[in-house]
Amino acid sequence: MSPEEFRQYGRRVVDWIADYLSSIESHPVRSQVRPGEVRVALPAHPPEHGEPYERVLGDLDRTILPGVTHWQHPSFFAYFPANASGPGILGDLLSSGLGVQGMVWATSPACTELETVVVDWLAELLGLPKHFRTDSRGGGVIQDSASSASLVAVLAALHRASGGKAGTDGISGRYPIYVSSQTHSALEKAGRIAGIGAKNVRVVDVDPATLTMDPEHLRALIAEDVAAGAVPTLVCATIGTTSTTAIDPITEIGRVCREHGVWLHVDAAYAGVSAICPELRWIHDGVAEYADSYATNPHKWLLTNFDCTVLWLADRAPMIEALSILPEFLRNSATDTGEVIDYRDWQVSLGRRFRALKLWSVIRWYGAEGLREHIRTGVALADEFAALVAADPDFVLFEPHHFGLVCFRPKWTGLSEEDANAATLALMERLNDSGALYLSHTKVNGRVLLRMAIGAPATERRHVLEAWHRIRAELP
Ligand SMILES: *Cc1c(COP(=O)(O)O)cnc(C)c1O
Repeated sequence: MSPEEFRQYGRRVVDWIADYLSSIESHPVRSQVRPGEVRVALPAHPPEHGEPYERVLGDLDRTILPGVTHWQHPSFFAYFPANASGPGILGDLLSSGLGVQGMVWATSPACTELETVVVDWLAELLGLPKHFRTDSRGGGVIQDSASSASLVAVLAALHRASGGKAGTDGISGRYPIYVSSQTHSALEKAGRIAGIGAKNVRVVDVDPATLTMDPEHLRALIAEDVAAGAVPTLVCATIGTTSTTAIDPITEIGRVCREHGVWLHVDAAYAGVSAICPELRWIHDGVAEYADSYATNPHKWLLTNFDCTVLWLADRAPMIEALSILPEFLRNSATDTGEVIDYRDWQVSLGRRFRALKLWSVIRWYGAEGLREHIRTGVALADEFAALVAADPDFVLFEPHHFGLVCFRPKWTGLSEEDANAATLALMERLNDSGALYLSHTKVNGRVLLRMAIGAPATERRHVLEAWHRIRAELP
């Protein structure tokens, strides 16, 4: 494809995206295709001869779009938002256009240095501590996902806890990590990948009402493990759990970690970015004093297209010692002087995209003010929705809710717990099948709850009110 052909089709693609976004409400939110339907509509064999790009665009409309669930639809309320935005899309396109590999500083200095600047900017915007900044012992890095960020944290913690032995000799003995039943499954996965073993992923009790981690039980488990000769390695506390956005008590957990020299990782994948609003900054209480690492996802609620997780460390040394490998083919004078950052030592893979461009585009286009307004809109709509649920005698609201997620369910007076759960799931399926909106669910203390996650940039008050109207109308 020549630059001229690229210009021609590039314009068509940008127009296609703009048309898609402006007419997104004409699609059913959740794709209505059956398993295998997209696959059979596609050729079984690749083309031998190149095809005109028109045919790709034609198939996009005919075959691909019906199999797409519209995450940017204003009535998408499932899971958590995965915000896209004009500046996010354009930043991603620029990154593709440059096509650089930013594994070390020397392979594209701007890729590294822009990343350093934007992660420091974001630390400032979220009120994170000065020691997370790159000009201190710590620093931030963009990862593909919170799952990768968790794995990097576990590997750094394991390096520190084992005095470097885990990387050289392999793990011998037990190096437990501590989570709660509400912690994201990414932590267990990280434990398995790191060789800690699922058995050494210890599950701390939660308060049954708030679903937050119980620091006293954490203390007891750590003491038990120490007495048994294990080396407690990492505790993961969550700010905004995936199920209900519960907030673990970071300060109390941090004190327990400090007593035993255990690494504290804070997973704020969804909720962390909301601290850009001063009125929500309290969610970070305890992070400055106790967190060894902290991750949040601009790709969820901060208008930055997937993938963009930022991981910060209070001290980058254990991570770099755990992950740094310098093969001959990557030797270069800049690395040798030690004056530059080589982000390949801050992640699992070697190659890395120029992701900083999209976060930079987003922050510059919206400014802190615009980003705050986006978060505040989601929080206000969630408050309004929760008030409607609370005021309705046929529904139960799960409290507290701090962010854009509201968990609730119909009361189902007279039904057994099992029947009520089945009825709640059936109601959700009917709503999702209608294509008018998309909700997801969770289970809390044996009860199925509906999750209404508000925060797509296109969502307005009318979409939330319409969703409530439909949910109500589905009650028998
Ligand atoms: C979404 C989420 C994750 C996983 O995020 P990925 O970036 O998809 O890996 C981890 N932790 C929490 C609390 C989440 O909400």
